Amino acid sequence: MQGCPLRCKYCHNPDTWGKNYGEEVTLDELLEEIMKYKTFMDFSNGGVTVSGGEPLLQKKFVAKLFEELRNLDIHTALDTSGFTNIDEDVKRLLEYTSLVLLDIKHLDPVEHKDLTGVDNKRTLEFLRYLDENKIKSWIRYVVLPGFNDSPEYVERFAEFIKQFKSVKKVEILPYHELGKDKWEKLGLVYQLNHVSEPTKEKIKEIVGILKSKGISTLC
Ligand code: SF4
Repeated sequence: MQGCPLRCKYCHNPDTWGKNYGEEVTLDELLEEIMKYKTFMDFSNGGVTVSGGEPLLQKKFVAKLFEELRNLDIHTALDTSGFTNIDEDVKRLLEYTSLVLLDIKHLDPVEHKDLTGVDNKRTLEFLRYLDENKIKSWIRYVVLPGFNDSPEYVERFAEFIKQFKSVKKVEILPYHELGKDKWEKLGLVYQLNHVSEPTKEKIKEIVGILKSKGISTLC
């Protein structure tokens, strides 16, 4: 989905930021496209993931899409930063969401703002809402060296996540520079040139800490 209220320094899809780009489709057109893959989805236990940008900017459309997919018995996943007000439209959308993939960029509001341009209050409120309403979720954790990869931070992160029963997994995503070219093409200044991708050892260390706290991981 086009449009995103965040401006993450490592975003690999800065071309999705603006709401007015992209191709407009109707619900029927999209459903028709999705149905071409129904046999494959049934065979592979797959489903539909809506990501962005930020899909919650088009919450009414996604709610309607997920409602239709639920009626067709198709698994629905929402890939989001959780940066939203939890209004009736969002609640309705979540009723039809099988799995939420929630990006938590940093637990500290100041660090979060420095990386994304916004603080993390709404994201953490969104996580609480998911937990209170028993909506299955996976947390996405982009590992950015020097920002959120110290053992102390990972321990804190693990302790925080552990309290949420709705969180079934933490997906570790090592930071990569693949989006850099897009920034340059769009005339944007990439601010992480001094940051290297995390080493395999660092990722192993993070997975080890999370596992030692009883958290299931995926990477
Ligand atoms: S939330 Fe996602 S799409 Fe939006 S700026 Fe961050 S990484 Fe990019």
